[in-house]
Amino acid sequence: MERLAVYPGSFDPVTNGHLDIIKRAAGMFDRVVVLVSYNAKKNGGTFTAEERVELLKRSLGGSIPNVTVDSYNGLLADYVTKAGASAIVKGLRAVSDFEDEFQQALINRQLAPGVDTVFLVSSLEYMYLSSSTVREICALGGNIKNFVPEAIIGDIEERLKKQN
Ligand code: ADP
Repeated sequence: MERLAVYPGSFDPVTNGHLDIIKRAAGMFDRVVVLVSYNAKKNGGTFTAEERVELLKRSLGGSIPNVTVDSYNGLLADYVTKAGASAIVKGLRAVSDFEDEFQQALINRQLAPGVDTVFLVSSLEYMYLSSSTVREICALGGNIKNFVPEAIIGDIEERLKKQN
């Protein structure tokens, strides 16, 4: 049976840290769906869900054949059950990610029994990288080229300049 993993997140926008997790997950599973999920806690956002999907697709550029991108605004447990996934992939950065991710993993296992959450520890160079850091640096006029894929730098700069 095909082993499918779902990697959910806000991806507002995708960073090199996300791409690192995607590449590593793609090596572990037959297929990976990167899922742009709307989070009640992170309302609004800089990019719409459709835009985030498009930025992800452009960043990947079809370079990893077993990775696809989708979006969903419902319960993650429902999505993974319907998709027949065997795992939810999460990236773990500093200790600060742990408490929340641990809680979500336990709840998701109750809601979707049989779907395990797999944590991939962040690569050292991306340990302190988050979408919000990228947005902040860009809004303040800093250079984001080390943090996000080249193909989407223009989009981020244009969006954040407009908001200021
Ligand atoms: P953020 O807005 O904090 O960057 P997302 O909701 O987009 O986070 O993140 C989706 C998933 O990717 C989460 O599991 C998160 O822990 C993980 N992630 C985000 N940034 C990194 C990174 N730099 N290294 C490893 N994992 C990451």
